[in-house]
Amino acid sequence: MADVTLRHVYKVYEGSVRAVNDFDLNIRDKEFVVFVGPSGCGKSTTLRMIAGLEDITAGQLYIDGELMNEVEPKNRDIAMVFQSYALYPHMTVYENMAFGLKLRHTPKDEIDKRVKAAAEILEISELLSRKPKALSGGQRQRVALGRTIVRHPKVFLLDEPLSNLDAKLRVSMRSEITKLHEKLETTFIYVTHDQTEAMTMGNRIVVMKDGFIQQADTPITLFEDPCNLFVATFLGSPQMNIVDAELFMDGKTLKAKLNDRDDMIVSFPDIKAKQLANKKYIGEKVLLGIRPEHVHPNAGNLKAFIDVVEHLGDESILYCKMENRKEQFIIKIPFNSKIHANEETKLDFDMNHVYLFDAMTHKAIMGIPSEDEIPVVIKDGVISMGQQELSLDEEYASHLLDASFNNEVYLAIKPDYISEEETPNALTVMAKFEFVEQKTDYQAVYFSLKGVEGYFAMKVKNDEEVKLGKEVALYFPYQRINIYDKDHNKTNSREVVYPNKGIASVNTVKGQMKVKVSGFTLTYPEEGLENGEYEIVFKQDKLLPLFPNKMLKKNDKLENPVMDIPSNKIKVSAYDEDVLGNKLLAYVQVGNFEKYCSFVIGNNFSVYKMPKFELYVPREAFELKSIK
Ligand code: ADP
Repeated sequence: MADVTLRHVYKVYEGSVRAVNDFDLNIRDKEFVVFVGPSGCGKSTTLRMIAGLEDITAGQLYIDGELMNEVEPKNRDIAMVFQSYALYPHMTVYENMAFGLKLRHTPKDEIDKRVKAAAEILEISELLSRKPKALSGGQRQRVALGRTIVRHPKVFLLDEPLSNLDAKLRVSMRSEITKLHEKLETTFIYVTHDQTEAMTMGNRIVVMKDGFIQQADTPITLFEDPCNLFVATFLGSPQMNIVDAELFMDGKTLKAKLNDRDDMIVSFPDIKAKQLANKKYIGEKVLLGIRPEHVHPNAGNLKAFIDVVEHLGDESILYCKMENRKEQFIIKIPFNSKIHANEETKLDFDMNHVYLFDAMTHKAIMGIPSEDEIPVVIKDGVISMGQQELSLDEEYASHLLDASFNNEVYLAIKPDYISEEETPNALTVMAKFEFVEQKTDYQAVYFSLKGVEGYFAMKVKNDEEVKLGKEVALYFPYQRINIYDKDHNKTNSREVVYPNKGIASVNTVKGQMKVKVSGFTLTYPEEGLENGEYEIVFKQDKLLPLFPNKMLKKNDKLENPVMDIPSNKIKVSAYDEDVLGNKLLAYVQVGNFEKYCSFVIGNNFSVYKMPKFELYVPREAFELKSIK
């Protein structure tokens, strides 16, 4: 029994390498979860944090609901298998497997029982008296697994356990590990950079890139509905083809011009066209993706040239060139000996299977989105969503940055988290079910919101009835709601955002306004304010951190030049940080401020760089309010 929950977990190594950002995932008991992604994306670091071999910089790790951040690795009831299996060469297989239990003073007969049971599961009973050098690579890896099985851990962590084996053995060990998981009925977390391993082994796959989770879902859902270009092209072999496309309407039909060529036009079926996330893309350049198996040669009107053909017994792979596009275009068809290289062909796209991506953000913009993004305005405790006015939960409001309020923002939520079932701590939204698309694992249900353009999506179980055309109440759990500004920066945080409020005393002397706050004196040109105490409120987006190597100089060019710049600064100490898209929300402690103060800065900054630093306070970074 073990579920493993990571809540907003971060790892920042010394020298401020951000290895893992905001890793948020619940791994259920008995699940087989695979972390996959290119080298350096943070997979091993995450695994090592779960094992306790690496400190967690921020966030929480729970195993079976118990906070584990400070628990010693040996007390976490976790077993880890590494790629190098490091068996003791002078010990037999039996002794290798018994060794850990002996150290723990397990009684001899119990050790014997466990070693024999594990050997049976792994089918190595006849090897127990051999030494490692008399074993093959696959057998050694099995012994390494056996060493961990005998401990009866709650969770198995496997870090690229097959990467030292040859290709053939890897394939057979893949199914052995899957079988082992079924036999042991324990939670498995498996790290690999190999997409085939991920697709064939996991109940669920977590695709990572640059320290961020890109998407976490079942293999089939990742394949059918990749949330962005990275996931789309990372999974699947040969990989998805990408071409440039410009969307336009021809009467009522949505069409796309490919690769800037007037003679390359494709039309979307109506059900697809309705799934375009936003009408703003019509007239825009986007990226169109299509998998090699959904393209048919000698069938349509898209000109291409076949460079190379590989006939692989049951299938033929065609490597083509398209006009105006350098990248290879790959087609996979059932074996066809009549197709030859160095010939022209015309292609037909199966338009029920095309994907569209935003040319800038690379997010999927057709079909079930990674997050529904609903335009809203948040003001005075109310969320205005089209014609609906929803009251904002106070606790949730305390996690919102200044930028969330009084601006056009997007309320975003993953389609998985929207529910028709009444949910506590959720925003209740009235919606109308419009149309359904059947997927392998679920039904994609598209709904509309009064006064909001377009359709939004949620996932409903396959066996549930969907009543189209009906007004329904949908529940959006607050915990799952993100708010984004127009530039797609998240404006909600993990920690409560306290208003950056303190007390300042103002004293004007000889044309200079001296503002004393937390023991620091800031000097600005006179403003005609009465001397006395004021409430000072710092603005989150105007404070600038100063580092010794980047100290502002007196003659640095600033928008509002201020006198005596080096003195207009306050000393703060680092508290925590939150990555919000390409911005960072830093929490710092300042003398007499309530709790901590927060400011927003580019995400190449990190408060973990230095425990103490200074903030430059230009005049526009604060407001003074008289205290009466
Ligand atoms: P993966 O397992 O996906 O290949 P890692 O988790 O090993 O990735 O590494 C993620 C990032 O953290 C990489 O940029 C790597 O260079 C960096 N990193 C890993 N370990 C350390 C360390 N001990 N000190 C500093 N940086 C590290």
